[in-house]
Amino acid sequence: MKRDPRFDILFEPVRIGPLTARNRFYQVPHCSGMGYRYPNAEAHLRGIKAEGGWAVVSTQEAEIHPTSDLTPANEARLWDDGDLPTLAAVTERIHAHGSLAAIQLVHNGLHVANRFSRMIPLAPSNSVSDSLDPVQARAMDKADIIDMRRWYREAAIRARRAGFDIIYLYSGHDMSVLQHFLSKRHNHRSDEYGGSFENRLRLFREILGDTKEAVGDTCAIAVRLAVDELLGPAGITSEGEGRDVISALAEEPDLWDVNLSNWSNDSQTARFSEEGYQEPYIGFVKSVTTKPVIGVGRYTSPDSMVRVIRQGIMDFIGAARPSIADPFLPRKIEEGRIDDIRECIGCNICASGDNTNTPMRCTQNPTIGEEWRKGWHPERLSVKDRPEPALIIGGGPAGLEAARALSQAGVDIVLADSGDEWGGRITRESRLPGLATWARVRDWRVGQLQVRPNAQIYLQSPLTVDDVLQYGVPHIALATGSRWRCDGVGRTHRLPLAFLSEGKIVSPDAVIDEGGQAVTDDGPVVIYDDDSFYLGSVLAEVLVEAGRHVIFLTPEPQVSPWSNYTLEQSRIQKRLIDLGVQIIPSVGLAGRTRDSLTLSCVYSGKLSSIDCATLVPVTARLPNEDLWLAMKARECEWADAGIKSVTRLGDCLAPGLIASAVYSGHQYAQGYGTAPEDGRVPFKREDIAMLYGNATPGKLTADLY
Ligand code: ADP
Ligand code: SF4
Repeated sequence: MKRDPRFDILFEPVRIGPLTARNRFYQVPHCSGMGYRYPNAEAHLRGIKAEGGWAVVSTQEAEIHPTSDLTPANEARLWDDGDLPTLAAVTERIHAHGSLAAIQLVHNGLHVANRFSRMIPLAPSNSVSDSLDPVQARAMDKADIIDMRRWYREAAIRARRAGFDIIYLYSGHDMSVLQHFLSKRHNHRSDEYGGSFENRLRLFREILGDTKEAVGDTCAIAVRLAVDELLGPAGITSEGEGRDVISALAEEPDLWDVNLSNWSNDSQTARFSEEGYQEPYIGFVKSVTTKPVIGVGRYTSPDSMVRVIRQGIMDFIGAARPSIADPFLPRKIEEGRIDDIRECIGCNICASGDNTNTPMRCTQNPTIGEEWRKGWHPERLSVKDRPEPALIIGGGPAGLEAARALSQAGVDIVLADSGDEWGGRITRESRLPGLATWARVRDWRVGQLQVRPNAQIYLQSPLTVDDVLQYGVPHIALATGSRWRCDGVGRTHRLPLAFLSEGKIVSPDAVIDEGGQAVTDDGPVVIYDDDSFYLGSVLAEVLVEAGRHVIFLTPEPQVSPWSNYTLEQSRIQKRLIDLGVQIIPSVGLAGRTRDSLTLSCVYSGKLSSIDCATLVPVTARLPNEDLWLAMKARECEWADAGIKSVTRLGDCLAPGLIASAVYSGHQYAQGYGTAPEDGRVPFKREDIAMLYGNATPGKLTADLY
């Protein structure tokens, strides 16, 4: 297929200083959780982006000196020449596909605790590190400023030696010493590096000049700048000093990459923002510089991309998450395969990888992070010759992905679901406030299945054990999902709470499906959230919208604490406060009457009581395993029925994230027709290994040290 001419503009080459990018698709710096500790994984991840057509592929932030040590986070590192091979591996894989490689240099200033290096963090003024550790950064003196300039210069030269084409200076996310110097909140100096705007900009200007002088002849120099911190007059704003920085340095860098600070503002989830949410803040940039401008905003629609170029908002389509959900997004537009684009749903499960210091994962793209260690490719999948057919029961995220991936690999599949519509929990949850984009998990997979001649897909087809035994298909996958339990069992209460049945209980499933109608009593509705992610808070929104008085209990000190990893926690808590939800933290359940609940403080055990007409316990789920148990009970009949394997996938094996269900379905397809697990670790590792000495088995060569 050929691309639609209306998208031609996206494939125009664009000059960046001494270089030319082959199109307007630009993977901006993003964390991967792989960094210096998993260099093969990192290199292959970036290589896949280049293969998928991104003209520029960037690393994550690269710490330039041991006084900038984000341990245990796992970013890029450029402390000395010892870091060059791992970074050279990254540029090699990016260049292999004709793309430009960019690196984002950073000294993290007061953002680090230097847990590994144990060096004192550096900042414009004496300040507490924002790492949560009881650590302070010391005010830099003139000698430190000279050192800082030298470190940046040396890092830029090393970056060029590692093969990078674009060298970034980073003043964003409140994570960089350059932003700390700029910021009135952090910079309280009275010398020529503090006070007036020009003084606070001085270090930035000097380092920009140093970098250009050091490598600007062959490399492009980019600046990544937070133009607004969403703090109003207390911070940098796009009408104030954000604009002033770009006006002051307008033509100095070769490229401006502009966004919002901090990270939770830059990477907003779909629950809290629409595609293009940064446009009101960055729209001015092109009016004050002639240099190319990049912005982000979860763009997945090629029409929106064309619009922002034509409207003169930006020159490149910057992407982190859309490039994770679909590394081949540019190629698909170029080849006229718009329907094949796997759109990011804006859930930030990818960010949770970095925030837990582990390689990233993605709800939409189960192959991300597995490019090297499992050899998975986002677009290609093959199984052994002439594979036998499969019957997949359940068309939620796990079943849909198993069916899609198997059919792509040439396996004849039958997919059956008992419901009236595809998607299982994703369809049900996408009707909840703010979660509409989640339906893309279903839509992409159903769209792919509908055009595959080897896929037969049936709704309204509840299958029993007799049906399965009669089907005559050798490989059966059960993806029958899960349901919320109502007995109080979860992380806090490990045994059922018999007293809960003294009053009305409504399951989370009922609220998901029926909204406020599920609650028939007008009295207070209590949500007891021991799940700690999004659902409890979303159900609170549903019930408030239905006019209920909602009380939100949690054993945790804050609402939805796991959503800190998806960068949503403060927005969720704010939303519940704004909706008038009464929040009671740090409590468990201790007793119940028809119209009250007894609470127990999780620290002291002190009891208290609240009114409660209806309880919605959001604690844990149970697998829908009836079909599995029935199949197991008749295992002796499998062989006669021609059944060779029965495998559980997704939530019916163990309820978890939607991303885990998709991964489970994909993993089934990847391993289809191969021998079951043989006891070996099922992926390649790149952990540090000590070598055994030749002569003395068991003696470590490290003993020599
Ligand atoms: P997962 O997240 O693991 O994919 P879901 O709960 O989203 O699980 O999806 C499970 C799907 O399985 C639902 O759409 C449900 O209608 C379907 N299902 C459950 N039991 C059966 C069955 N016996 N026959 C056919 N479909 C079933
Ligand atoms: Fe998008 Fe979610 Fe994937 Fe991140 S994890 S890239 S937000 S779909």
